[in-house]
Amino acid sequence: MAGKIMKGGEFLIAESDCQDIFTPEDFTDEQRAMAETTEQFVENEILPHLDEIEAQKFEYIVEGMKKCGELGLLMMDAPEEEGGLELDKASAMLVGEKIATSGSFSVAFAAHTGIGTLPLIYYGTPVQKEKYLDKIISGEWCSAYCLTEPGSGSDALGVQSNATLSEDGKYYTLNGTKQFITNGGFADLFTIFVKIDKQHFTAFLVEKSFDGLVVGPEEKKMGIKGSSTTQIILDNCKVPVENVLGEIGKGHKIAFNSLNIGRFKLGAMVTGAAKMALGEGLSYANERKQFGRAIASFGAIQEKIADVTAAIYASESLVYRLAGLLDDKIATIDKGVDDYYEQYLKAIEEYAPECGISKVFCSDVLAKTVDEVVQIHGGYGFVSEYAAERYYRDERINRLFEGTNEINRLLTTGMILKRSMKGELPLQAESMKAFEALMTPSFDEVDESIPFIAEKTTIANLKTLFLILAGAGVQKYMDKLANEQEILMAASDIAIQIFAMESAVLRAEKMIDTLSPVKQEQLRAAVKVATFNATEVAASAAKKGAYMVEEGDTLTMILSGVRRFTKYDATGLLQAKRTLAAAASEAEKYIF
Ligand SMILES: Cc1cc2nc3c(=O)[nH]c(=O)nc-3n(C[C@H](O)[C@H](O)[C@H](O)COP(=O)(O)OP(=O)(O)OC[C@H]3O[C@@H](n4cnc5c(N)ncnc54)[C@H](O)[C@@H]3O)c2cc1C
Repeated sequence: MAGKIMKGGEFLIAESDCQDIFTPEDFTDEQRAMAETTEQFVENEILPHLDEIEAQKFEYIVEGMKKCGELGLLMMDAPEEEGGLELDKASAMLVGEKIATSGSFSVAFAAHTGIGTLPLIYYGTPVQKEKYLDKIISGEWCSAYCLTEPGSGSDALGVQSNATLSEDGKYYTLNGTKQFITNGGFADLFTIFVKIDKQHFTAFLVEKSFDGLVVGPEEKKMGIKGSSTTQIILDNCKVPVENVLGEIGKGHKIAFNSLNIGRFKLGAMVTGAAKMALGEGLSYANERKQFGRAIASFGAIQEKIADVTAAIYASESLVYRLAGLLDDKIATIDKGVDDYYEQYLKAIEEYAPECGISKVFCSDVLAKTVDEVVQIHGGYGFVSEYAAERYYRDERINRLFEGTNEINRLLTTGMILKRSMKGELPLQAESMKAFEALMTPSFDEVDESIPFIAEKTTIANLKTLFLILAGAGVQKYMDKLANEQEILMAASDIAIQIFAMESAVLRAEKMIDTLSPVKQEQLRAAVKVATFNATEVAASAAKKGAYMVEEGDTLTMILSGVRRFTKYDATGLLQAKRTLAAAASEAEKYIF
């Protein structure tokens, strides 16, 4: 949809125009219709059976998946010529957001449509797709993705499972154990990553019926209890050579590209879950009376509602801005070229830093949301009769799987710095300019006529601060900076807040003139609260980062920069919080 397409990571050094970003206000009628179909499916087919699903009666998940197949919800990413819909990423994210209200079912759905199906779509041969794809996108078969092992989680390439070719060259024999496999208990097709001859990391398509594939017992989990999580044991499992997926020794590409896509979709799903949890908290706060009045009338509760509403607004803005970036980049690829999917995956990989940011920021927002929703429920939030208790337990996994949030934070800044060192992003030159700005007193006049100028100035300043810190880190540790994880984490925290805050502000700028005065006030309030909170997080990370990377005069200078570049005039913050809380309480749902 956009004019200029930003590169991945470029948001840290360049300014975006609000007209160049995709926002939820840009959804087409078709996209809205897809969202509505998904909402109705959850309401009619899943929510009435939630208790059975929670009790691991998997037949409800399997049946639900078939219904999703009938509705076209499993074929969003599959190519049109193979019976799929090949929808844009914004649509897929919107469906993800809506399906997220289905509790454990959503985990099965996400694993099936994401890491379970995408490897086949992107890397399968025509024969493999002919054999399996229709079954998968119709919901006749469920799928799973088996990367993790007992000894290799974050260190995904350290798998021990092994495959050897038979003497007649017709099949491989796989041995090993896969850990924590979503849909393990009922999946029919498994994408399994092993090393051939203990060396060549390779993916295989393995049917449940293949000799030697053993499904382990269900894990007893803290949350998402209705989903299936098992070990998959490969006990001399015989797999025909035709079922090698992609190239031998190139399994890492399949593994990581699939996870990358999982990450941006997860951002959308957790945003949907956060909206749902907020709605529950709002209803309860209106209903529950203490000291003779609804608890929603207390400032302490209103502040929680306001902070969470603003955070979800940022989360949503970020997710769909990323969808737009991905869709714009994908749209530049000629569909007729032979290596279409290679280019397609490269386009997605371009935004790997933003995908990591989406995963971390949005899952952290959900964590904050469910925590506050339990708190709003008081003691009742602690008992399972109330949905808040399940939301709290179910949330926790999102910070662990699809790459833990630590791994994603390390990857985000790590990738951006690597691109800079390769000359793909001019971070070093920009960092030098940032140091110059640090040493030059600023008497810039701000042009009050520019919409959201206070927020935009803060964002620009935080970018300068990121460049100062990252630059100081690179100067001190050079290519060994990756070993100084505490510094990388601090830099990531700043980058994450910048992307989220900027997405929130640009979206507001783009839509504000289309709104009624009342809605405009609410939007301004959300932007103020989100910017204030994000700036506080970034300021704290920057201060910590400064102390960890420097000492002496340079430290003193950088700390003065932290003070100068994290200023945000949030005059009217209390009123903004009250405006947001009042609107959300009245609507009893997320208001944007
Ligand atoms: C319910 C559930 C469903 C899952 N579904 C699937 C699935 O379908 N398919 C699949 O393949 N896997 C799946 N997983 C596995 C999941 O992806 C892993 O649990 C995750 O990648 C983390 O690996 P680990 O549990 O071994 O933790 P570890 O890797 O042992 O990590 C432990 C801690 O150390 C930190 N850490 C590790 N390495 C580093 C490092 N280099 N630097 C800094 N910190 C580090 C981590 O962030 C974490 O805090 C699932 C897990 C669960 C619990």
